[in-house]
Amino acid sequence: ALQVGIVGLPNVGKSTLFNALTAAEIPAENYPFCTIDPNVGVVAVPDSRLAALAAIASPEKTLPTAIEFVDIAGLVAGASTGEGLGNKFLANIRETDAILHVVRCFEDDDVMHVAGKVDPISDIETIDTELALADLTTATRAAERAAKAAKSGDKTAKRNATLFERVRDHLDTGAPVRAMTLDEDERLALRELHLITAKPALFVANVDEDGFENNPLLDRVHEHAAAQNAIVVAVCAALEGEMAQLDGDDKLEFLADLGLEEPGLDRVIRAAYELLGLQTFFTVGPKEVRAWTVRTGATAPQAAGVIHTDFERGFIRAEVIGYEDFVSLKGEKGAKEAGRQRLEGKEYRMVEGDVVHFRFNV
Ligand code: GDP
Repeated sequence: ALQVGIVGLPNVGKSTLFNALTAAEIPAENYPFCTIDPNVGVVAVPDSRLAALAAIASPEKTLPTAIEFVDIAGLVAGASTGEGLGNKFLANIRETDAILHVVRCFEDDDVMHVAGKVDPISDIETIDTELALADLTTATRAAERAAKAAKSGDKTAKRNATLFERVRDHLDTGAPVRAMTLDEDERLALRELHLITAKPALFVANVDEDGFENNPLLDRVHEHAAAQNAIVVAVCAALEGEMAQLDGDDKLEFLADLGLEEPGLDRVIRAAYELLGLQTFFTVGPKEVRAWTVRTGATAPQAAGVIHTDFERGFIRAEVIGYEDFVSLKGEKGAKEAGRQRLEGKEYRMVEGDVVHFRFNV
């Protein structure tokens, strides 16, 4: 599954958020570095379409699709030179596919702040600087290696040397690699460097219960993010933690009391899903209704391969009904009768919400 790494300074609410996301029991104490090992949690992606499909198919079970969140140990200023848990932090974050940057937008005298005061923009800059510095080291080394290899006349090495030097100079200004204009080949060539600032990122502003409105700290995060085309999701991690302990009607009541329609976590999970460039398709049968994840733009055989590798190898065709058609025509039978089931081949690119049967040889 694709992984989202949760980063941020110590004591901003990362563990609280992670615990709420995974409803798992890991310590969230008021100490920097309390989360020493990366904790991985598999989180269901909330999707109201599943219930609508299940209402039609009455399956034995309904299964959502999932993404992974990793709670990455606290980063402090100086991590790129090995301060705190710097190196371990950086190694963990290199392995993730996207970054969720938690920013503290709540005041609480009982919760210590590593820099002594709550200042979200300065916090963001501290983290971004460390990440850019780590990438700068990587890019500098890679540029040197490629330049050396290029001396023997290796064309790829020569091209890489030019690219890596460009990346190095860009990082040297403190800017993230994701802000660079790169073509598809350049992106591919950079992949092997596992650059942290090349990964897509979103901000989660952790606010107090009453901090969703008239919160100057939150406003500043919004302004900062807008300038780099990044998304901000505001949540109250402490509240989400309480909510995660409840189920069914208790949860609905809790939400209603707060005047909310859904948990803030659902917004975080969906934002992360979009950030990763993912889309969903469904399989519907009497045994199960299930949501599956593919990268946006995946072909039908690739989607089949998510279910089983044999499905991709032996792919013959896909029988596809669009989600809206499936629901409005009350299932496969109705959609077929209305001529809304399509037979699609190897080249077909999956559309968000497709309800699919794959036909394959084994
Ligand atoms: P981490 O170091 O970033 O993982 O931070 P934690 O999740 O351990 O949180 C640090 C402290 O802040 C804990 O005592 C939390 O209970 C507290 N905390 C987390 N979120 C909130 C919040 O939204 N409001 C308030 N007042 N405290 C919070």
